[in-house]
Amino acid sequence: MTEAFRNLIDGCWAAAANGATFRSINPADTRDVVGEFAASGVEDVRQAIGAARKALPKWRNMSAWARGEILRKAADTLESRLDEVGHAMVRENGKTMAEARGETARGVALFRYYAAEGVRSIGEVVPSINPRTMIYTTRVPLGVVSLVTPWNFPVAIPVWKLAPALAYGNTVVFKPATATPHCGVLIARILEDAGIPPGVVNLVTGSGGEVGEELVKNESVHGVSFTGSNVVGRRIAVWAAERGIKFQLEMGGKNPVIVMPDCDVEQALTLTLRGAFGYAGQKCTATSRAILLDSIYDLFAAKLVERAGALKIGPGIDEPNALPPVVSAEQHRGILAAIEKGKTEAKLLCGGGVPPGDAYRNGFYIKPTIFGDVPAASSLAQEEIFGPVLALMRAKDLDEAIALANGVRYGLSASIFTRDIGVIQEYCSRIEAGVVKVNGETAGLEPQVPFGGMKESSSHSREQGRAAMEFFTSIKTVYLDRAGM
Ligand code: NDP
Repeated sequence: MTEAFRNLIDGCWAAAANGATFRSINPADTRDVVGEFAASGVEDVRQAIGAARKALPKWRNMSAWARGEILRKAADTLESRLDEVGHAMVRENGKTMAEARGETARGVALFRYYAAEGVRSIGEVVPSINPRTMIYTTRVPLGVVSLVTPWNFPVAIPVWKLAPALAYGNTVVFKPATATPHCGVLIARILEDAGIPPGVVNLVTGSGGEVGEELVKNESVHGVSFTGSNVVGRRIAVWAAERGIKFQLEMGGKNPVIVMPDCDVEQALTLTLRGAFGYAGQKCTATSRAILLDSIYDLFAAKLVERAGALKIGPGIDEPNALPPVVSAEQHRGILAAIEKGKTEAKLLCGGGVPPGDAYRNGFYIKPTIFGDVPAASSLAQEEIFGPVLALMRAKDLDEAIALANGVRYGLSASIFTRDIGVIQEYCSRIEAGVVKVNGETAGLEPQVPFGGMKESSSHSREQGRAAMEFFTSIKTVYLDRAGM
């Protein structure tokens, strides 16, 4: 029998007000139903926001140290359930067990990091022009915040929004992606088990198209943090700007690697392949363009194609499989359509469709696909495909390589493979990306440092590390004068 899961509102697990439900399925085998979830409507969101508003005064007045204790317990609880959460993630979004365990461990690290925020400085004392005045800055929470998250990192992304939001004294309405509601439920349970007071974290599952507007436009909401597509992100920005509330958007990427002739070829090959085909290319920081210098192009392209052809395709639950399915029928259709369009724009070097055989019939599989000599203006070079598709581009020198790398509307992540310190310095200063790697994979982040994109990849705020404080708090500047003249 299919297990039923509910929303968490004001400390109670409740069905959607209208009783509607939807199913989450396993992308590796669509006959496997993960569970049934509340298909929430606007009424459920209003209740969740109301609960968050009611819980706010007590939570924001609690000491940051005490709030941190709850986050520390959440870290311990998540760590003790690493296998359970990892398995749930593989079953629901398809990634490999190794990646799912790694992501869950990242969630633990994030909870730990923000648990310690309670004892870090939140302001500064600044000398006044007037010797009788003391000036200091402090920070206060925004209030009720909406967190809208995607399916590709269904634990790490919610936690990197939830943990700082809570650490700085905000209360939360959390809406996970429709493709991964079970992971959302597991995070809410972990926070509940860690002792989060009723109403401080509210979980509402269901369609973003249905409830998204209320999550931003409701007058009790003071901020919204979103990760997902540019189309939805822009809509959220307009709604938030109309209300004058704070918003934070992390969106798409078209991340390049530049491969210089003097690089460690083995390292560049391994990390380009991993960046392009890890989790079937469904990371916002995945490598989607490889810009190869002329003199290394033929050799590097041939080796990439050989290795991509040798990648094993299969369900993420089988540890050795390198290329799992994509997350949903919709993503599957969209990626295959982008590949078909690509075939009219550039030379298909390998892959290019669905793998043959019964083993793949019930899952959303796509062969690792590489296109060669991709023109700079083509959709293959410009559009985010979010699947196992890599575009190879040719450059005559570093200047042209950097111009190609920067010639897109996105600016999330980039890497270069070289041993030349002069080239590295030039690239680091000219590349338009929020995450700049040298001899590294474009994907892969550490939680204690800022993360976010330039250009259309973000709304230009940063997440993770201490940068999260900038979004989830407001600054107060206090001028303190002695009484009496
Ligand atoms: P979306 O932007 O549609 O979804 C992200 C989140 O926003 C989900 O929780 C979604 O809910 C919610 N949402 C959807 N519509 C609205 C709305 N009108 N108002 C408020 N929230 C809404 O991304 P998709 O999952 O559809 O993926 C589409 C493409 O987006 C991908 O192919 C990729 O290019 C990009 N993407 C980028 C990500 C990144 O990390 N930068 C992550 C995921 C996707 P629901 O799931 O219910 O629709």
